[in-house]
Amino acid sequence: MAVALDLDGTVWLAGQPLPGAPDAVRRLRDTGHAVAFVTNNSSARRVEVAAALDRAGIAATADEVVTSGVATASLVRAGETVLVCGGPGLTEELEAVGARTVRDGDADVVAVGYHRDFDYERMRIAARAVRRGARLVGSNADATYPTPDGPLPGAGAILASVVTAAGVPAQVAGKPHEPMARVVRSRLGPHGWVVGDRLDTDGRFAVALGYRFALVLSGVTAAGDRDPAAPVDVVGDDLASVVGDLLRAGPG
Ligand SMILES: [Mg+2]
Repeated sequence: MAVALDLDGTVWLAGQPLPGAPDAVRRLRDTGHAVAFVTNNSSARRVEVAAALDRAGIAATADEVVTSGVATASLVRAGETVLVCGGPGLTEELEAVGARTVRDGDADVVAVGYHRDFDYERMRIAARAVRRGARLVGSNADATYPTPDGPLPGAGAILASVVTAAGVPAQVAGKPHEPMARVVRSRLGPHGWVVGDRLDTDGRFAVALGYRFALVLSGVTAAGDRDPAAPVDVVGDDLASVVGDLLRAGPG
């Protein structure tokens, strides 16, 4: 069985493991299950995410981390020029598929992701390249991301400003959209589980993948919340509590 684990609100929060999460991941591995850490965060490089997981007590390799940067790069062809309006993780994935990344000027693609130093100048440069013909691709459309101090503006907020300024819609790569589903399916196969804390991203992502969905209540979703487009197969307080149900339920 393959398990696609969300990170924020499922495995950790702000890099601190949620209680029981390291043991729960170990239990999945010990029972022979393939694990992937699937995050819409495109800012950090995969090797940095894996190192942070290791520090949190969760053994992980960069190859087991799938970011929305990987999904964004899957929409770019080798040799294309990509204007990056995002963080180092996004740039690295784009260069890994043979794109030439630039920070200004004309481009084939404008790739937008979360980055803390986004400002008016970057919005202007990105919107101008789109108006001059570049395809607009967003790593994800999440309006916010969770922190111990409450939600902070996410990649979706940055993307919305570029969409507004450029006057065209964006193709979105990350959860719950098809580019990310193609990447995860190619790694984990046609059957499995998604475990996550968001109905609108993780739950709908499970639908896109054709996987079953285990909802954890350790993140943004309250016990009674439901989304008709995101059927819930298993619900539990946290990863530790749903892993037992997953192991009993069998393949997705
Ligand atoms: Mg989450």
